[in-house]
Amino acid sequence: MLPFIRSDLAQFTAYKPHPSSDTDAAVPTELDRLDTNESPYDLPLQLKEKLAWTYQQVIETNRYPDGGHKTLKEAIAQYVNESAKLTSSLITSANISVGNGSDELIRSLLIATCLGGEGSILVANPTFSMYAILAQTLGIPIVTVERNAANFEIDLTAAQSAIAQTQNPPIRVVFVVHPNSPTANPLTTDELTWLKGLSEQILVVIDEAYFEFSQNTLIGELVQRPNWVILRTFSKAFRLAAMRVGYCVAHPEAIAILEKVRLPYNLPSFSMAAALVALKNRELLLESISQTLIERDKLIHTLSQHSKLQVSPSAANFIYLRLQGNIFHSQDNVLKNLHDRLKQSGTLVRLLSEGLRITIGTSEENTRTINRIQAALVNFKF
Ligand SMILES: *Cc1c(COP(=O)(O)O)cnc(C)c1O
Repeated sequence: MLPFIRSDLAQFTAYKPHPSSDTDAAVPTELDRLDTNESPYDLPLQLKEKLAWTYQQVIETNRYPDGGHKTLKEAIAQYVNESAKLTSSLITSANISVGNGSDELIRSLLIATCLGGEGSILVANPTFSMYAILAQTLGIPIVTVERNAANFEIDLTAAQSAIAQTQNPPIRVVFVVHPNSPTANPLTTDELTWLKGLSEQILVVIDEAYFEFSQNTLIGELVQRPNWVILRTFSKAFRLAAMRVGYCVAHPEAIAILEKVRLPYNLPSFSMAAALVALKNRELLLESISQTLIERDKLIHTLSQHSKLQVSPSAANFIYLRLQGNIFHSQDNVLKNLHDRLKQSGTLVRLLSEGLRITIGTSEENTRTINRIQAALVNFKF
C-alpha cells in the first residue's frame, strides 16, 4: 500500500458498473447492453449533424468553456417549468446548477454538507449505489435502512429511529430516487409525508433521473422546501450518457453553495452544446419514450407468466426481476447463474444482491432478453 494514501481508501475497490476497457476486453457492441439504463437509441443523425456543425463553426477548442453555464441553465429552467406543468416561470437559472453528470452534483452535495466529520448520510437499500460509493470516497459515514420486501417501500420506522439515534456525526442528507433504482417504484404518499416532516437541518435529495419515464415530479414542492433539492440527468431519456450532463434544481442559496464547491470548468463546451441541442429538440428526442413504455409492459407481462419469476411494476425504463421464494439464500447462486448465462448468450443485465435489473432496450433486444431468460431457466433446478 502506498504510505501516503488514506487508510480507508486503501480498502476500497473502484466502481465498475459496466464491463469496461480497464477490466475486460472492450465491450463488443453486438452485445445487448441492458445493464446501465441508457436509452437504446443513439441521437438522431440530423441532431448529430447540427452538433458537428457547432463543433466546426462555433466552439473554439483553444478556449475554456463558459464556466457560468448561463445559456444552458436558462434552457434547463424553461424545460423544468414546462416538465412540472408550472403555470408561471417559478424556476429560473438561479435555481439550477449543472454538473459533469449528476454524479458530480451528488459529490458536490456531499462535500457541501457532510465533509470533515460534519454529517452522515441515510439511504434505503437497494438504491442507486453512487450515493454510498461517493460518500465512502470522502470518508463520510453511511447509515442504511431496508425496504419492504414486497413493495420496496422504505422502512420508515427504521429510518426515523436512525435519524434520532445517529450522532457524531448526525444524519445531514437523505437520498431517495423517484422512481427508485433498481426497484423501479415511485415514492409513496407515506414516504413523501415522512420526507416533508424531516427537520430543515436535513437535506433531502430527490433524484429524478427517470422523470421523463415516470412523469412524476416534485419540482412544485421546492418553493416551500428550502432543504430539498432535485437531481435530473441528460443520461437517460435524453440519450446523452456519453456527454455527462446532469443538473440540480434547488433554492438559490443551496445553488450558490454548489457553485462554490464545483470545479471552475466542469462541463466541456461540447457537452453543453449537446445538452442545448437536446433541449431544443426535446419533442423529437422524447418521442421514443412511449415506445419504451410499451416495450416495458410487454416485458413485464411476458416474464410475469413464468412461475419462477417475480417481476415488479415499473415507473422507469427498466424492470426489477426476482426469483420466486427469493428470501432463501440458496437462491443467490441461481440469480448469479442466470446473470452469467444471460451474459454468455449476449445480454448484459445488472446483478444485485436480490434481483436483476434489466434495462428496456429496442424491441429486438427485449425479445432476445425474454427468449434467453426462458432458455436459461429451463436448465435450472429450483
Ligand atoms: C443513471 C442515474 C443517474 C445519472 O447519473 P449521471 O452521472 O448523470 O449519468 C443519477 N441517478 C440515478 C438514480 C441514476 O440511475
